[in-house]
Order: sequence, then structure tokens, then C-alpha cells
Amino acid sequence: MTLALHGGTPVRDTPWPSWPPPLDPAQRRLVMEVLESGQWGATQGGAAVADLTAAFARACSVPYGVAVGNATLGLFAALKGLGVAPGDEVVMPAYTFVASATAVLLAGAVPVIVDVDPAHLHLSADAVRGALTPRTAAVMPVHLAGSPADMDPIIELAARHGLAVAEDAAQAHGAAYKDRPVGGLGDAGVFSFQSSKAMTAGEGGLVVCRDESVHERIWSVCNVGRRRGGQWYGHPSVGWNLRLTEIQAALLLPWLDRLDDELARRAAFCAALGRELAGLPVTMLGPPPGTTRDSRHLVMLRIGAPVDRDFLLKAMAAEGVPLDAGYPPLGTMTALTEAGARAEPCPVAEEAATSVVWVRQSMLMDDPAGAADVAEALAKVLAA
Ligand SMILES: *Cc1c(COP(=O)(O)O)cnc(C)c1O
Repeated sequence: MTLALHGGTPVRDTPWPSWPPPLDPAQRRLVMEVLESGQWGATQGGAAVADLTAAFARACSVPYGVAVGNATLGLFAALKGLGVAPGDEVVMPAYTFVASATAVLLAGAVPVIVDVDPAHLHLSADAVRGALTPRTAAVMPVHLAGSPADMDPIIELAARHGLAVAEDAAQAHGAAYKDRPVGGLGDAGVFSFQSSKAMTAGEGGLVVCRDESVHERIWSVCNVGRRRGGQWYGHPSVGWNLRLTEIQAALLLPWLDRLDDELARRAAFCAALGRELAGLPVTMLGPPPGTTRDSRHLVMLRIGAPVDRDFLLKAMAAEGVPLDAGYPPLGTMTALTEAGARAEPCPVAEEAATSVVWVRQSMLMDDPAGAADVAEALAKVLAA
């Protein structure tokens, strides 16, 4: 069969679902209500941000939340609220989005980048243990691809060494670990509503936490150093304006009612994909132990055949099945190391950077029959 890249017929010529999905009537109604109210900012008395924050925290089984402009700033605020100070070290996985590390730099702290587990590319407690120093203040597990990191060993280790746990749950809305929702497992959890995420308002984020005083501090960091219930021009601590708008919250609130359906749709696609890939030299990377609900932000495939990755990506795109290259290891980004990040040797993340590709979220929203197109295109390209 001639590859589409070389003029052959593509495996798929129908488009994949768009992301974000089309506006639904509840979103349209709520956004219009907010627009007409004139209360576009969250300090003007509107209810959308407050409702979103309360509902989201409840969904994470914790009492507190703070809505923020994006998850990068949410991670920064969480670290500040947890008492991470300039010069402190924060241990994180090498295979994650760059913002996990730049949020730490923003807090003046040192990202300590450690290797990931080859089975699922998540942070493990063992890797954290090997990187501890007297300056270690926090651990940042990342719920990569919508699968929860194996949290219990990480939380136990953190408790033993007096470390804070800040979950980067930017990709994991609705995911659960041992039947407990992510975000509420550590001392603070941070979600993103950026346009590629499972709930989106174009941009946005939300921090959740269990402890009242941590909440007070995070809230203050995000509200120019005010005290909750204190004076408008009273600023007992240093903070910034990191707030989400009412308009964004209006787009997000109705999503809480449909997220479960969307996650079920992705799970069905992924189950079909697992069946279709049988027999190919391609491994779907499984979730870490303890996962009871994988929110399937994306699917990571390890290609077990010797193939040039750039060629694979170009050929797959030509077949109508565009895949993503995934993350370069954080430690190889000189901008981070020059800014003070410290990286351990990360052979697993480096191997993943050449052999792992991603099936993106919008494709997972397709009818499960679409999984056959992914497998057929992979078989065709790998055979060429
Ligand atoms: C998207 C993402 C972020 C950053 O979120 P923003 O809302 O874009 O700032 C951080 N960490 C991970 C793992 C992400 O996927």
C-alpha cells in the first residue's frame, strides 16, 4: 500500500472531532447572563466564579478552592501557599509540560528534575527519595495524560520528611486514585482550563486544598495580598491579581454536568484502541497502580519498531491520523537549567522523547470505531 505521504490514499479522510466541543445551550445562556449583568470580574458580586470554585472543590472532596487565571499561576500560588520559599527545592518528573517547572522558578524555588517510571512515565516515590536534600520542601507529582500518579507512596514519603505535596492535575479533571479524586490527595491540587484541557474557557485554572490556613494563604496570593473579609486596600501580605473572570466561569460551570459523559466517551475509544492495536509493535502506556479512573486526557503509545519518529509523525498526519511528538525531557531544556533547575540523569524520559507518541484528546472524543483508523494507519506506516 502506498503511503499517503507518497501519493497513496489516506486511511482516513473524515475530520476528527473539534476541540473544544461546540458551545452548548447552557454555556450560551450563562455566558449571556454574565455579559448582560456587567459583573464580568469576580470581585463585583457575581456568583459564577464562587459557584464554580465550590462545585469543583466538592468534586475533589475538599472544602476549599481558588479560581485562577491559569494553572501555571495556580501552581505558583499553591507553592507559595504551602510555604515554599526562595531557594527551596521542589522534586518533579522529567516528563511533563514545561510549566510544572517554570511555576517553581516563578516562586524563586529550584525545580529538581528526576526520571520517570518506564511503565507509565509518571513520577515514583523511589525517584523522589533519591533526590532529597536538606533543601527539599515539596514534591510535585503530575497526573500525566489524565492518569493519577501512584500517590500513596509519595504522600507517605513526603509526610516522613515534612514535605508539601502539590499535585499538578492540569490534565486530570475527574481522574481518581483508589476511588479518591485527584487534586484533593495532596496538600494542594491544581487544574488547568487552558484550551487543550478537558474543561476549558480558553484559559483558566483552579487550585483546591483541604486545610483552611493553606486556603487563606493561596487566596491572599491570588488577591493582591488581601485578607479574606478584610479591607479592600488592606494588604497584610504580598500577593498578585491572579483571578479568573466571571465570563470564564460561566463557560466552565455547565461543563461540570457533562464531564462524566465525555470521560466515558474517551474511555470507550481507548478500550477500542487497545483491542485494535493488538498484534502491532505498539504499546499503550498503562496508568500507574492505584488508578481507578483514568480521565484519558491523551493516550501515550510507545513504538516498539525502529522507525524515524519525524517520518512516523509526517506519514501518520498524511494518513489523516495526526499524532503528537510529546515532551522533550525537562532536563534537556537549557533555559530551565540556566535559570537554576537541577536535573538528574533521565534515561527513561530521554527514551520516551524518541519512542513515545500521543493520540490527542479530540481524537479520543470520536466514535470508538475511529480507533480502527488509528491502528490501520499505524500498521500501514510501520510496514512501510
Ligand atoms: C497545561 C499544563 C500546565 C499549565 O497550565 P496553564 O493553564 O496553561 O498554565 C501545567 N502542567 C501540565 C502538566 C499541563 O498539562
